[in-house]
Amino acid sequence: MGTRDEGLQFVSLIHRLRTLGFALGLWPVAAVLYRQQAPTWEWVLLAANGLLWPHLAWQYARRGVRPAQRERFNLLADAAMLGGWIAAMHFALLPSVLLITMMCMDRVGAGGWRLLGKALPIGVAGCALVAWIAGATYQPGSGMLGLLACLPMLGIYPVWLSTVTFRQAQRIRHRNRLLEQLNHTDMLTGIANRAHWMDSAAREMHRYLRNQRPATLILLDIDGFKQVNDSRGHAAGDALLQQLATVLHESLRSVDTPGRLGGDEFGIVLPETDLEHAREVAERIRQRVERLGRADEALARPYTLSLGVAQIGPRHANVDAWVRQADVALYLAKAQGRNRVCTSSPEAVAP
Ligand code: GH3
Ligand code: MG
Repeated sequence: MGTRDEGLQFVSLIHRLRTLGFALGLWPVAAVLYRQQAPTWEWVLLAANGLLWPHLAWQYARRGVRPAQRERFNLLADAAMLGGWIAAMHFALLPSVLLITMMCMDRVGAGGWRLLGKALPIGVAGCALVAWIAGATYQPGSGMLGLLACLPMLGIYPVWLSTVTFRQAQRIRHRNRLLEQLNHTDMLTGIANRAHWMDSAAREMHRYLRNQRPATLILLDIDGFKQVNDSRGHAAGDALLQQLATVLHESLRSVDTPGRLGGDEFGIVLPETDLEHAREVAERIRQRVERLGRADEALARPYTLSLGVAQIGPRHANVDAWVRQADVALYLAKAQGRNRVCTSSPEAVAP
């Protein structure tokens, strides 16, 4: 268990399970005590253990610096108490087996076989101690009342425990999905990061090799971005990068993958698109950003985009060669004066 918050979540989950488990477990023990005509002090002890202990254990655990550690102590204390009640019931078979089974399910659920391995000897010790003090004998029967008193626990507790386990599994699945998404995402702009974008390009390359389907890459870089940072600060530069990601998102189809390759350089993978169509998309983006750049009066000089476009072809030995070709086109756009779209032929790049 990592942080204190996670520890507290664990503690409150066990608190709910313990409160229900002890409230239901009270009945089989009470049925046996009734059959044995147990003295009043045993009844008082049973009521305190069944109804008060779960809340005392909760208070003890949640106030600790390491709540999860304290909770594990409580889980072991539960086992000792259970052992004691089994001796107090003179080993009445059905209630004992039921309570031991539920205790084992709980310990395995909370701390695996390791926790169960620790709980079992402690339970046996609790049992031996009470058996020695109270002089327990072996009386396995618990009668019809004992059997009836076991039914609520048998019917309710396992269903509740599996509901809790299911919810936990759902939460973990949700977290894993979130982590996977974060792993693929550029934190500033929310679009694909370089690694994920390269994976998309590689997927298109495989499709091309299998079915000869066309695909095109656009690489783009903001012109004069350093000036934005210098004149208006890094935060304004960040906002501009975010704005550009939004423009890309709004200008593309859902099958296209925009990504931030680093700094002020972005890439777009366009499946099922030839060079001419991709060039039109790039031109549309360039014009849109140009308008945005001019509209931004806070800028000393309007910013624009340079874009390079490259369609996949037989000369591309791998994805890197394809990306390199788009990069050459981008370089051309910069060299020819910026704020333009350029294409380059595959022959311009060594395979
Ligand atoms: P060019 O037309 O040649 O592209 O000129 P430029 O000023 O845009 O130059 P270049 O692309 O080389 O500059 C990229 C700058 O982007 C340099 C770096 O300080 C800045 N930068 C890189 N990452 C970030 C970021 O996450 N946020 C901000 N605000 N700036 C960044
Ligand atoms: Mg730039």
